[in-house]
Amino acid sequence: MKKFKIASIPGDGIGPEVIREGIKILNKIAEADGTFQFEFTEFPWGCEYYTKHGVMMDEDGMEKLKDYDAIYLGAVGYPGVPDHISLWDLLLRIRKGFDQYVNIRPITLLEAAPCPLKDTNREDVNMLFIRENSEGEYAGAGDWLFKGKENEVVLQNGVFSRKGTERIIRYAFETARKEGRTLTSISKGNALNYSMVFWDQVFEEVSREYPDVKTASYLVDAAAMLMIKDPKRFEVVVTSNLFGDILTDLGAAIAGGIGLAAGANINPEREYPSMFEPIHGSAPDIAGQNIANPLAAIWSASQMMDFFGYENYGKNILQAIEKVLIDGNVLTTDMGGTATTEQVGSQVVNYLEEML
Ligand code: ATP
Ligand code: MG
Repeated sequence: MKKFKIASIPGDGIGPEVIREGIKILNKIAEADGTFQFEFTEFPWGCEYYTKHGVMMDEDGMEKLKDYDAIYLGAVGYPGVPDHISLWDLLLRIRKGFDQYVNIRPITLLEAAPCPLKDTNREDVNMLFIRENSEGEYAGAGDWLFKGKENEVVLQNGVFSRKGTERIIRYAFETARKEGRTLTSISKGNALNYSMVFWDQVFEEVSREYPDVKTASYLVDAAAMLMIKDPKRFEVVVTSNLFGDILTDLGAAIAGGIGLAAGANINPEREYPSMFEPIHGSAPDIAGQNIANPLAAIWSASQMMDFFGYENYGKNILQAIEKVLIDGNVLTTDMGGTATTEQVGSQVVNYLEEML
């Protein structure tokens, strides 16, 4: 029987609570299918680990992870541990170390999901964001030029390599072609007169290889406005690390909120494991109470199924989530309900069972 080896990193705060539910869903699918199974290995890394051991993950952590088929991550971050440590020493270390240069974030408004936009048809909010995930504004390049209060000057550089820019744009074209949808590039060539001029140029060049794919381009400020005013303009979207980070949070807000937002960090060459995670943080304010919304973590499990080539099961998970929303009786407090994390997970399983 085919076996998928998954490294789970539940992490901090609500991470373990939501990951548990995602694992429940994955195991249910494997059990119903009968031709494959999941083997989960848990790694206790994160901020709690950091307070005990002084590191977010083991020194040889990357070596330990490298042979898994995927990584399933909850959340990292906790009060008292500076965000740049938790982010750089675990999340970014994995993203960069495993060259997960594609960040995929679906912005799809499911039926009955809360949406703050008035007069918007559900079908009009259906974007697939493909964010550059390995360099750009988050390359970590910069310096303190001068120290001392009066003359302090700090640089933060964006790094846009030919290789890095081309491969993300090409991945986006492949995706748009496969889905038969328009590809929109979001940049800022008028103000960022090196990096984004280069980005636009590469987009134009690569587009010539895909004459069958319809394209559009927006400046990031205009795109932010249009995502609210006219979201149906956006289908498949490709953008840089920083712009993608900001716009996908905006997208999460219009597509049901942080409790539903999922993300996948993909190494398309499959040379290294890819990583799947809800995009929310550890939510220390509600941790340990069994009230966190597990739907984002479950949605990221659906992305994992897509990645393994079981798109039918990926769809089933989304349909089951949608049924839970439409039913409306078993929801966590962030969605106006009173159910526990565990009850919401089980309700997804109930609807899944009807489909499998
Ligand atoms: P971190 O430091 O890990 O980023 P954070 O508190 O800064 O954590 P989030 O964890 O994303 O950021 O939380 C922001 C807000 O959204 C919090 O009030 C939290 O309670 C809420 N929240 C986040 N995720 C969920 C979830 N899955 N279910 C319910 N509420 C959530
Ligand atoms: Mg935070």
